[in-house]
Amino acid sequence: MLKKCRLCLEDSELQNSHIVPQFHKRRLNKLSKSQGGLMVISNGFEVPDKHRTGRSEYLLCRECELRFSLWETCAANWFYNWEPAQESLDEKGIIYKDINYPEFRLYCLSLLWRLSVSTLEYFDAVSLSSDDSETIRIALLSSDTLDSKFPICFTKLVKPDGEVFPISMQPYVTGQGSGKCFHLITNGLVHDFWLSDQRNNLSLKHCSLRPTGTLVVPIFPFMDFPPVKAQIALANKND
Ligand SMILES: [Zn+2]
Repeated sequence: MLKKCRLCLEDSELQNSHIVPQFHKRRLNKLSKSQGGLMVISNGFEVPDKHRTGRSEYLLCRECELRFSLWETCAANWFYNWEPAQESLDEKGIIYKDINYPEFRLYCLSLLWRLSVSTLEYFDAVSLSSDDSETIRIALLSSDTLDSKFPICFTKLVKPDGEVFPISMQPYVTGQGSGKCFHLITNGLVHDFWLSDQRNNLSLKHCSLRPTGTLVVPIFPFMDFPPVKAQIALANKND
């Protein structure tokens, strides 16, 4: 049956699209074999994650799915092969330079958009206004990186030995109005999707992905990261 693609709005045979790209599960699945199962933290509980290949939904036509996959390849190379390699490390985090800005930025925008248009309950916390959603939809179709809007930052959550800790958490929201920010933790990487540019937010200014291809990624021991800490405290209370 033909249905309307959410991106191009054409009637088409829709693909079962991953909301969070499947590559994020690679490291998690590998780890889960040695630890006896994939876990996700949701509402204060650590629960087995049955979605081994990620949550998916019939959203996109084949052409739009392919459009996204090009950008995902760029992001997957960064997550797994750390290409381009880190340039340096300062007190604020790891500095990456020469990131393919258009592809990486469009990957980030496409992820934010997918989280918001998904009807799956798991992603309910992420909802864009219809204006913002339409702005991003049109930008994705025309490969417009929307440089002055929707800043995006990352934080890497690590174990005491400095390795990435591949934790996942159900998306959550902080702040209100123009200070609103959606957060997705997957694969040990916190994605912060800001709704508007926070002129006075210095850390946002310093860390968000920039058109020059520079990205500063703060590193945080996962046990000390406040949202994870809060979830673990809640989980202990629930025991
Ligand atoms: Zn389409």
